[in-house]
Amino acid sequence: MTLAVFACDAARTHGRQHPETPAPTRTEFQRDRDRIVHSTAFRRLVYKTQVFLNHEGDLFRTRLTHSIEVAQLARSIARPLQLNEDLVEAIALAHDLGHTPFGHAGQDALNECMREHGGFEHNLQSLRVVDKLEERYPVFDGLNLCFETREGILKHCSQANALKLEAQDPGGVGRRFLERTQPSLEAQLCNLADEIAYNAHDIDDGVRSGLITLEQVAQVPLFGRYCSEARSEHPHLQGRRLLYEAIRRMLSALVYDVIAATRERLDELRPADADGARALPPLVAFTEAARADSAALKRFLFANLYRHSRVMETTGQAQEVVRELFAAYLARPAEMQAGFAARADTARAVADYIAGMTDRYALREHERLTGRRLLTATIP
Ligand code: MG
Repeated sequence: MTLAVFACDAARTHGRQHPETPAPTRTEFQRDRDRIVHSTAFRRLVYKTQVFLNHEGDLFRTRLTHSIEVAQLARSIARPLQLNEDLVEAIALAHDLGHTPFGHAGQDALNECMREHGGFEHNLQSLRVVDKLEERYPVFDGLNLCFETREGILKHCSQANALKLEAQDPGGVGRRFLERTQPSLEAQLCNLADEIAYNAHDIDDGVRSGLITLEQVAQVPLFGRYCSEARSEHPHLQGRRLLYEAIRRMLSALVYDVIAATRERLDELRPADADGARALPPLVAFTEAARADSAALKRFLFANLYRHSRVMETTGQAQEVVRELFAAYLARPAEMQAGFAARADTARAVADYIAGMTDRYALREHERLTGRRLLTATIP
């Protein structure tokens, strides 16, 4: 794999927090990817909600399949731009490790519970998982990943938390939020691949669930264009095959758009190396037209799917589960697993414990501690 001068090169990584001897056959970023795939948090993603609750149907995306789709899209874009494919794969597979059970509903509820204790941010939690919470190595906590992988995982961070990170680790992954610079091109790419992935798969899952119809999404210009294109080339196409063909065309168009727009910016600004790219404005981007199209699709999904009354109903109950779990463990820390129960920072330990749960484990624990079964209608 030939890398562009502005790509992150594993041979010139900014390093790991605990120095390690190089692996004989793998690059540092390949090694990071392998550590992520073998982590406990990664396996839990299979039972965590993306949009639809994990137990509502077997074919909906989960955090795991979403992460794999993001990795696929990110690699497809990285290769022609000669960015580091191994690094984008590592970042993409790890980007959602800190998500709570029950998707955004769970995260909002946990953030609310943690209001007096420093709040809860899922990007920062993903970093906590790989830096502290995984327990797999004899001499350090976490997975001891490279700076570049950790930088990509910390997609957003509040100023307050960036200051804390900077105090613990000067010049580390918190620094860019204080200096308002960009992360590596590989990290920028993963953000965009995430957006492309969820816009596309949420159309699929939304239509599959029956909460939105194909005709309704076809009103959105971006999707409508590829739906008409598919229909005119294949007049007999209908139902799921029409949906898949339209999504396939839309995905390809967005991927090619990012590649072309990014090439243009790179040609214009010519970063000399990976650090040079970090000092410039964002370089991995859609064309202006595709950006507006993608934003319109996002607004449609927000209004018609994420805020659909049936989704909102489960959202309310999921938040109740998280709030009541939080209150129960805070009052009786011994109800948690020993390692969490023994911690002195009780509220943060409770947040870490709940954030790590799968949807179904959270429901089981909630029933055990409160005697109430929520979200029962859909429990198998
Ligand atoms: Mg994501």
